[in-house]
Amino acid sequence: EKTINKIAAGEVVERPASIIKELVENSIDSGADEIIVEVNNGGITYIKVCDNGCGIEYDDLDKAFLRHATSKIRTEDDLNTIATLGFRGEALASIAAVSKVEMISKTKENDIGAKIIIEGGKILSKEYCGSPTGTIITVQDVFFNTPARLKFLKSQRSEGMYITETMQNLAMSHTDVSFKYRLNDKLIFATRGDGDLKSVLLSIYGKEIVNNVIRLDYSGSIAAIKGYIGSSSIAKGSRSGQSVFVNRRYVKNKVVAAAAEAAYKSMLTINKYPFFVIEMFLNPELVDVNVHPSKSEVKFQDDNAVFKDVFNGVKNALLSEKV
Ligand code: ADP
Ligand code: MG
Repeated sequence: EKTINKIAAGEVVERPASIIKELVENSIDSGADEIIVEVNNGGITYIKVCDNGCGIEYDDLDKAFLRHATSKIRTEDDLNTIATLGFRGEALASIAAVSKVEMISKTKENDIGAKIIIEGGKILSKEYCGSPTGTIITVQDVFFNTPARLKFLKSQRSEGMYITETMQNLAMSHTDVSFKYRLNDKLIFATRGDGDLKSVLLSIYGKEIVNNVIRLDYSGSIAAIKGYIGSSSIAKGSRSGQSVFVNRRYVKNKVVAAAAEAAYKSMLTINKYPFFVIEMFLNPELVDVNVHPSKSEVKFQDDNAVFKDVFNGVKNALLSEKV
């Protein structure tokens, strides 16, 4: 059972950034509107996620770490239309199998919270503990018991960059949650949770970027296109600063990026990649979401229609800007 957990953990926990994604998504699912994330040394030695969500009862605290323990019951049919981010009940079990975890949690109905300590999948202690309402989870020494996987990680600096990117995507797709993100004791960004994407972009990228973006708001044949596009100084020779969200999930998709770039280049002569955050909304049945938790690729049923809608959405915004 322990070996199975370690192997399965490889699917969910590829690197510290995947742990961050799972933990923050759990916090979002718990109804939190304030989430604080602290990371040291690329997340390899230390990750802490603190939320003001619904919390977990004392009796349920150890169950949350069992494989396939989920309070978010689903059927296969629901997979395309799920409202919560988690649904497989695998993340906590997988994370705890390959690290040292401490979780403190309290529900608002209770006066006292609970604390559990798990190392390498083994519960070391569980006791009552004072706590504010919500959940505080600390993950230390990722892959301490799987040295081969530890060796596979990149430098702390690179792992930290993956985490920052993950945090940016989470903040951009959850504008109504206030995020504070610290890396190596330095505040990287803090968002307000005011529901405004532009205010999130300001927190993440700063004034220089945000003062030079144009708003996208277009209703295409199959997709609504929202977000912002602009020329970027962060994307020197790279596509960093390009994010695509489909129905509020961060995705990697070449069609959307290609359409946006083509439209931008058809209107303006630039020799670098444009900055953009594109939010697409379309019927979930027209998107094949890879349900693997660590993958973000999607496939559209009709790539040509998506290309057209994004292209026209961007072109439209640039045209109306010129008037
Ligand atoms: P899933 O999110 O797929 O249900 P997880 O392993 O990520 O599975 O979490 C297991 C369960 O633990 C969740 O279903 C939820 O009930 C509980 N849980 C995890 N994190 C939190 C949190 N931050 N606040 C409240 N409940 C949580
Ligand atoms: Mg989860």
